[in-house]
Amino acid sequence: MGKVTQGQAVSETEISINPLSGQLVVRGANPALLTTLAAHLGGGVDLDCGECPPPVTHQGEIAASETPGLVHVAGFVHQSMVDGPGLRSVVFMQGCHLQCSTDCRNSYAHDFLKGALMTVEAVLVELLRPDLPRDGVTISGGEPLAQAEACAEVLSRLKAAGSHVVVYTGYTCEHLAHSMDSSVKRVLGLADMLVDGPYVAALSGKGIAYRGSSNQRVIDLRATRTVGELRLLHVD
Ligand code: SF4
Repeated sequence: MGKVTQGQAVSETEISINPLSGQLVVRGANPALLTTLAAHLGGGVDLDCGECPPPVTHQGEIAASETPGLVHVAGFVHQSMVDGPGLRSVVFMQGCHLQCSTDCRNSYAHDFLKGALMTVEAVLVELLRPDLPRDGVTISGGEPLAQAEACAEVLSRLKAAGSHVVVYTGYTCEHLAHSMDSSVKRVLGLADMLVDGPYVAALSGKGIAYRGSSNQRVIDLRATRTVGELRLLHVD
């Protein structure tokens, strides 16, 4: 620890420790508090906390969500603190047929006919931009596994580049584990963490780290693969 980081202005002050970097992260602090913290801990850097909606690029009608060699993308966010541990670069994949809640916060990413088609290489270039700090990368959506092949390819390339990768899905891990789709198996075999399950608006609220609702689980996939049974991370 040693840096003070200032997030986007919100109505309450939240102070937490970035579990990957050890940095103190301060959100919603007034200038006097920031000055006091800086006096004791040293100067910090401003962060874009990543809570704004990702930019959506429309390219007219797109015929299919699963286009060989291409990724159907809703947008990107960098320096997110809400999509997994630490600071994360996030790709939101376009298209979701699950419709698990009418209150889904990512409804902009539901329509399979919107968004943009990008090459895997172009997605990686954006996610691994050298000018931005990150502790890892998150693949969210929409439903990433509606494009399992593209998701697996992006994930594979990210792991080859040494990134810690979180994948979000509206499916449960148990459901995915029974899939015969080799790309789904690849995703489960490569990702570091899986945030799974449908969003349930009645179970949403404050103090639910990295998820939209408390029924969703943060799964340590590396430990799960090692021991052969589900291992949850208790992050709240
Ligand atoms: S799976 Fe995700 S994007 Fe799809 S409806 Fe549920 S919360 Fe929204």
